[in-house]
Amino acid sequence: MKKLASRIEQVPASLTLAIAAKAKAMRAEGIDVCSFSAGEPDFDTPKHIVEAAKVALDQGKTRYGAAAGEPQLRAAIAQKLQTDNQLCYGAENIVVTNGGKQSLFNLMLAMIEPGDEVIIPAPYWLSYPEMVKLAGGTPVIVPTSVDSRFKITPEQLRHAITPNTKLFIFNSPSNPTGMVYTPDEVRAIASVVVETGIWVVSDEIYEKILYDNAAHLSIGAASPESYEYTIVSSGFAKTYAMTGWRVGFLAAPPAIAQAVSKIQGHSTSNVCTFAQYGAIAAYQGSQACVHDMLAAFTQRRQVMYDYLNAMPGIACPQPDGAFYMFADISKLGMKSLDFCNGLLDAHQVAAVPGIAFGANDCIRFSYATDMETIRKGMERLEAYVRSIA
Ligand code: GLU
Repeated sequence: MKKLASRIEQVPASLTLAIAAKAKAMRAEGIDVCSFSAGEPDFDTPKHIVEAAKVALDQGKTRYGAAAGEPQLRAAIAQKLQTDNQLCYGAENIVVTNGGKQSLFNLMLAMIEPGDEVIIPAPYWLSYPEMVKLAGGTPVIVPTSVDSRFKITPEQLRHAITPNTKLFIFNSPSNPTGMVYTPDEVRAIASVVVETGIWVVSDEIYEKILYDNAAHLSIGAASPESYEYTIVSSGFAKTYAMTGWRVGFLAAPPAIAQAVSKIQGHSTSNVCTFAQYGAIAAYQGSQACVHDMLAAFTQRRQVMYDYLNAMPGIACPQPDGAFYMFADISKLGMKSLDFCNGLLDAHQVAAVPGIAFGANDCIRFSYATDMETIRKGMERLEAYVRSIA
């Protein structure tokens, strides 16, 4: 029997998706599961966005479109990047992709080849290293610790750069840690990128989910020079509760945007046409829904934070953005996978083991779920922790 391609043996399946699927399957069996697994807002997509997609369906927007996306959506994205992020892009710089995930995957295919190194600070979103490997490149993981609030320092970045470095993956607000780089920290990282001439892909999918005084600065807007080295990846899923719509985008210098569009033209073609009309409404309509969801996340964050930090053996920094708590369990003397398996099997609480994110002493809890589930799940977690501690 012929073997599968060796590239597939180098990558595990996505654990965030696997755990979320397991929690859903247990629920379908009638088991009362509290799921803090996949980062998926529990809200329905706002009505005006749904309506815009329905109108597009009624208008017959059901055919193939341009591989890079509907021109109106690309223009709306360029406008948003200008207004919100001070990034000067035209529609020709934008490629609409099947979620933020595909923008990153296609970028790796467009830029990375064997011998290329891609710098990824850990903890990282679990698909980054696997995408690099699938493209034939080498992920270079730079560990960070809670002492630097899980942020890479300019010195660490400089130290990791070699003549083979092609790309640096920068993610703020961060999944899984919820940390946000301050504008000054972004500028300091941008200086290293510019001095060394590496590319940076900035994953900004959580940019609107910020708490207290946290502020988001795109690394592409840190200086006119850093703009030249930046590729922005983002999408609609987290901000507008549109996870299932699969609409994301990439903004890049024209040669890179064209390369990504070419790959898309030979793989998926355009993103679902009428879904793109929903995305236009998301950017052009009222942003009140974003503020309402943020207000709910803010309350949930506080409740989960208070529960976690009151448990023996658990330490968890307060996140500044996204909707994840990243809790250190090292004092409990257990590694993350065993901890999460025990939690799910014995207490019906789903969370993602930090080993998936390159941090085996930590557990990620998503609080993009309702308050009742948070309280119930945290009480079950407390019972579990007390049984171990
Ligand atoms: N990005 C989300 C998460 O980290 C959704 C699942 C996935 O795509 O990995 O939970």
